[in-house]
Amino acid sequence: MTGPAARYDAVVVGGGHNGLVAAAYLARAGWSVLVLERRPVLGGAAISQQVFEGVDVRLSAYSYLVSLLPDRIVTDLDLSVTLLDRAVASYTPLVRDGAHGGLLIEREEGPATAASFHALTGGDAEFAGWQRFYGRLATLAEDLAPTLTEPLLGEAELAGRLRDRELWQDLRERPLADVVAAHLSDDVVRGIALTDGLIGTFADVHAADGLAGRCFLYHLIGNGTGRWRVPAGGMGAVSGAIATAARAAGAELVTGATVTAIETRADGVTVHWTDDDGTARAADAGFAVSGAAPAVLDELLDAAPAPRPSGSQLKVNMVLARLPRLRSGDDPHRAFSGTFHVDEAASQIDAAYAQAAAGRLPDVIPFEVYCHSLTDPTIVGGTGLHTLTLFGLHTPAELFSAYPAGTRDEAVARVVGQLDAYLAEPLLDCLARDADGRPCLQAASPLDVEASLAMPGGHIFHGDLSWPLAAEPTEAGSWGVATVHPRVVAASSGGTVRGGAVSGLGGFAAAQHLLGR
Ligand SMILES: Cc1cc2nc3c(=O)[nH]c(=O)nc-3n(C[C@H](O)[C@H](O)[C@H](O)COP(=O)(O)OP(=O)(O)OC[C@H]3O[C@@H](n4cnc5c(N)ncnc54)[C@H](O)[C@@H]3O)c2cc1C
Repeated sequence: MTGPAARYDAVVVGGGHNGLVAAAYLARAGWSVLVLERRPVLGGAAISQQVFEGVDVRLSAYSYLVSLLPDRIVTDLDLSVTLLDRAVASYTPLVRDGAHGGLLIEREEGPATAASFHALTGGDAEFAGWQRFYGRLATLAEDLAPTLTEPLLGEAELAGRLRDRELWQDLRERPLADVVAAHLSDDVVRGIALTDGLIGTFADVHAADGLAGRCFLYHLIGNGTGRWRVPAGGMGAVSGAIATAARAAGAELVTGATVTAIETRADGVTVHWTDDDGTARAADAGFAVSGAAPAVLDELLDAAPAPRPSGSQLKVNMVLARLPRLRSGDDPHRAFSGTFHVDEAASQIDAAYAQAAAGRLPDVIPFEVYCHSLTDPTIVGGTGLHTLTLFGLHTPAELFSAYPAGTRDEAVARVVGQLDAYLAEPLLDCLARDADGRPCLQAASPLDVEASLAMPGGHIFHGDLSWPLAAEPTEAGSWGVATVHPRVVAASSGGTVRGGAVSGLGGFAAAQHLLGR
């Protein structure tokens, strides 16, 4: 590239997947588009990378499963993306009456799932409650999902689209723990349901503040099924396909370009950035589209900063020479192919929340693990290795502030010890080794996520999720992408009303807003 032209229809700040979706839609509509990404790679939190030196495995280093990306975006942009179903939805190792066992939930719940519930609870009522709850949620998902790609609906209009308004109202108004408890009785089973309200979200499931309810809802409604699928080739394949679509439509995608300021005028913007070699540059545009987090945008616009978000997850990437055997005797190839819940019973979630809210790293950290390579071996090539991703709950950024590395190491020691309690051989014995002989385990606290991805506070959604509707009557009919200036449009996970997670919905909404003007 010889250097960008002086004026564009739109300059997109940040080449995360949402910025790329906005760029692809706009470029396909004939707009001239420049995307500026500060990192050396595009994709933001949706990337694949080789994490361990000498180990030829490309991990989904941050986000790893896809549910909320609408088929419509895949079709509109002709994305070459393959999302694979996992045979197992989840497996929860447990000890009851001194004996090791596990609760298996298949994706298509069949006799093995029913038998597993029976073995855990001693009857059939809990499985019936589970099926009733998730049946109701499936209906809600079918009704809500199509609205995500429409302009925002007002409260009454949205409710009018829903067949199960009672469940919708319950999720909006009651503590998530109460909604779950109305359907499920067992501590372990309740916990499995509750975790969807706590992914990247530090919330008290007993509070009626809607925080956990919103997070729960987004985890259940993707594409009208709520199914979480494995991106073939890793998460980088998803962002890569969107980048390819944007480039093919004529968008210019520049990496190593850190935007330093956005100047606004009534008829457009000037975007200033610095190249990797320190060269300061600027371009005029009709609009700036922010694919960066709202807190980043506030700085670029020199606007009054909103309250700072705080992430709450522990992320651990691992490569294994072999899958560990389980003390339950269950097949690890089956158990690890779904979401493997560890110490996520409802009572354990409560205890961890209480400790974290009091400023302590939880003694027992609820977390989940999943193995990408069991569903999609392409990311490990022909090495025969396996990947393992661990996502911990209730580990807010503040806990790491005083001693970042020491607290992270302590958190890792705890989760490894907790997992080992269910394994017939220590996890560390199963890890592959990198070129220097070190075990392939890399951990990231919210502070690490912030440092590498510019996600303020390390919050995986850039901030707490919003209900997918107009918050004010005046917002109804809009795309929910407004910022402090009409020439600056939000596209990111946290900047848009429905943009959270790997969905492209933020970028989609930004583009629809601009193209519909
Ligand atoms: C550890 C982790 C696990 C997750 N797991 C999942 C999962 O399994 N499934 C799921 O759906 N979601 C998951 N998420 C959430 C999901 O990845 C994010 O919500 C989503 O990727 C956000 O996309 P985005 O494009 O809006 O923003 P981002 O991915 O944050 O992209 C913003 C981009 O802007 C760039 N940028 C910032 N400032 C500037 C600047 N000044 N100049 C130029 N560029 C700038 C950043 O470098 C970045 O590339 C996870 C996130 C994390 C961190």
